[in-house]
Amino acid sequence: MRPQDYLSVMASPEIEALTQALSRLPGLGPRSARRAVLHLLKKRETALDPLLSALDAVSRGLSTCGACGNVDTSDPCAVCADPRRDARSLCVVEEVADLWALDRSRLFPGKFHVLGGRLSALEGVRPEDLRIDSLVRRVAAGGIDEVVLAMNATLDGQTTAHYLAERLESYPIRLTQLAHGLPVGGELDYLDEGTLAQALRARRPVA
Ligand SMILES: [Zn+2]
Repeated sequence: MRPQDYLSVMASPEIEALTQALSRLPGLGPRSARRAVLHLLKKRETALDPLLSALDAVSRGLSTCGACGNVDTSDPCAVCADPRRDARSLCVVEEVADLWALDRSRLFPGKFHVLGGRLSALEGVRPEDLRIDSLVRRVAAGGIDEVVLAMNATLDGQTTAHYLAERLESYPIRLTQLAHGLPVGGELDYLDEGTLAQALRARRPVA
């Protein structure tokens, strides 16, 4: 047996494909993907089977919420469908990850609107590429007292916030934005919950 033949039977093509798929996930490289695969193979009942059924359930029900743009297994999503949330407050975020980060902080009791990105001259992202018209329609429909612009503290994030402020200025709402104790260049999803909570608590009117 040549050395390469021996190496090739260390992992079947199926296991190799699983390792490759996992290694493409954010935060996982080839090395940690291999460790994860080994763990899954050794712990079939407690790790592999629950993961498989969770993936299957998510994959079957996966949808984008028609109201807010969140990704969930139901439409409307769990956040929109929750009657305990205050529909008079609307928090606008760039990405689903930002919605999840703010929701984890449990400090915003209202509803959300996910733009699906940020305006960017460099990347050619225009207003019509984002969920901006549907945001304006939600606000125009009434019943909303406050819109919080929770864009990232990046140049594109702030450009987007200014654009939204202009689009929404004629509606009778309080327009606020996160206080920028946020580090400049900071992305919401990477902030610790204390910093995020502080930015939300100290939100201020859009100038
Ligand atoms: Zn929703």
